[in-house]
Amino acid sequence: MGTENIPSSLVQFASADKLINLGRANSLWPLTFGIACCAIEMMCAGAARFDLSRFGAEVFRPSPRQADVMIVAGTITKKMAPGIKTLYDQMPEPKWVIAMGNCAISGGPFNFEGQYSIVEGADQFLPVDIYIPGCPPRPEALIEGILQLEHKITKWRRWPEIEAKRMG
Ligand code: SF4
Repeated sequence: MGTENIPSSLVQFASADKLINLGRANSLWPLTFGIACCAIEMMCAGAARFDLSRFGAEVFRPSPRQADVMIVAGTITKKMAPGIKTLYDQMPEPKWVIAMGNCAISGGPFNFEGQYSIVEGADQFLPVDIYIPGCPPRPEALIEGILQLEHKITKWRRWPEIEAKRMG
């Protein structure tokens, strides 16, 4: 069937999707949970000094059924991984995952030969969208990760890029 036979109302969905995605990107609701020291930095990002609410992502939800962003902040032990996966599965679509800190990216300082107790990265069992390196990453890094996720959802960046400062 040629495109001339498609009703014009169908064509309008692209604009509606853009508008809906703009709303989603600017009102991300993270799940309230933290599993190790990186979670302290995540809490700081939501507090007054860093004020994550300026970017619409401060409404941390106590239930996975009300959240659309999972911030994996901390070391993932093999004992905890099934519980984290259950929380992720309980979140409604669309949903996103941020791996915050080296532990959530690769196991961090606990990734060594012979280790038997940790999962070497959230992407071993979750579809990670954004990686934020650091041990721990600062709250500003989490805010930049949120902006990167907004960019991924809307396909454009609302805020200026931050240039890395060269040392020396
Ligand atoms: S990356 Fe570093 S600060 Fe973050 S949970 Fe692991 S050990 Fe702690």
